Amino acid sequence: MRVAVLGSTGSIGASTLDVLGRHPERFEVVALAAASSHVRLFEQIVRFRPRFAIMQDPAAGAQLLAAVRGTDLPTEVLIGPDALCAVAGHVEVDTVMAAIVGAAGLPSTLAAAEAGKRVLLANKESLVVAGALLIEAARRGGATLIPIDSEHNAIFQCLPEKVESGRRCGGVRRILLTASGGPFLRLTREEMRKVSPHQACDHPRWRMGRKISVDSATLMNKGLELIEACLMFGMEPSDVSVVVHPQSIVHSLVEYVDGSILAQLGNPDMRTPIAHALGWPERILSGVESLDLVAAARLDFEAPDSTRFPCLRLARAAAEAGGTTPAVLNAANEVAVEAFLAGRLDFLGIPDLVEAVLERHEQRPATALSRVLEADRWARGLAESMLVREARADA
Ligand code: NAD
Ligand code: MG
Repeated sequence: MRVAVLGSTGSIGASTLDVLGRHPERFEVVALAAASSHVRLFEQIVRFRPRFAIMQDPAAGAQLLAAVRGTDLPTEVLIGPDALCAVAGHVEVDTVMAAIVGAAGLPSTLAAAEAGKRVLLANKESLVVAGALLIEAARRGGATLIPIDSEHNAIFQCLPEKVESGRRCGGVRRILLTASGGPFLRLTREEMRKVSPHQACDHPRWRMGRKISVDSATLMNKGLELIEACLMFGMEPSDVSVVVHPQSIVHSLVEYVDGSILAQLGNPDMRTPIAHALGWPERILSGVESLDLVAAARLDFEAPDSTRFPCLRLARAAAEAGGTTPAVLNAANEVAVEAFLAGRLDFLGIPDLVEAVLERHEQRPATALSRVLEADRWARGLAESMLVREARADA
């Protein structure tokens, strides 16, 4: 199987290459892509010798080109978003790992779906922004979407094998999404006001990229995942519950109408869902250790607190509203998280900014990509101008 890893220098990208590296007879890495970390990408090229390497940033792309030139590497270096989409849909690619962060991952994910690839979907933002369009593209192209997000991969594993993306499975009563609660589970709102980006990125259970780490700390990650679950599995928002489970051992659950609940358990290591999706429907080694249930000893569950974590409430409302609203929620959140990481916004400012943008949004049906992209651009513009206005008011 020939695999393209988009976002190969990130946390999911590195875990994917770790699994792929364990099965050289089964998988061939044909393409690697990243935003700007050319040194890291070059190291990966040397190890996996892909046919294509794509860099988004032109200056970093030029550096990579210079490094590859004069070697015996078989790799063609390409630059920019069009090249990324072309490779995602290339005839020599069977499987695309969509592991770019943010709405920036949407065009290449769509291209892979249109071209009928097996799409391993880590990039949850593309489903949140353009879920119905992505699922429709996969249907048209004959693509198979397999979720990589640990919760959705767990749900996928607890559903019958013949499940179609976007269609509700017969007999399912509800989905239970587990949430670790993030690093600030026990903080008061007063304490949250002062937290730093470093503290927000220091997740108790998972090592992840900075954006999703902040989303986990605000619980927006669970909100995005709620929307992702509705789209991926054809569920109504009211049929998806969130339950806080600090140990992150039960990755999610599916309840059937007869009262049975199926859960998927394992150590919190993304190589499990990645190996599951790469090998599916077979099982392959991932490098993840056996879960020691006796050492884990307890599994705790509690209700989430949407007063201290308003992002969860905002995302649920966006899931219910549908149309362009989830795209606006996502775009405002991306701007807010970036501002928080850059020290321009405090932690509690993240939900405030997202809510302020949502309040000004006039919802449209998300029937065309142009509509969704326009809503995304509008929300980013408004969120940025609100940040600037606030900074001036503070000065
Ligand atoms: P990360 O920040 O560690 O890595 C992001 C990758 O995307 C990097 O390789 C970066 O170079 C690349 N990238 C960013 N912008 C790009 C662009 N415009 N064009 C091309 N490449 C670009 O992020 P991550 O933690 O690996 O997360 C990736 C995705 O997977 C996110 O959507 C996240 O929500 C999802 N996810 C991650 C985890 C996890 O454990 N890390 C778990 C579940 C879901
Ligand atoms: Mg998750």
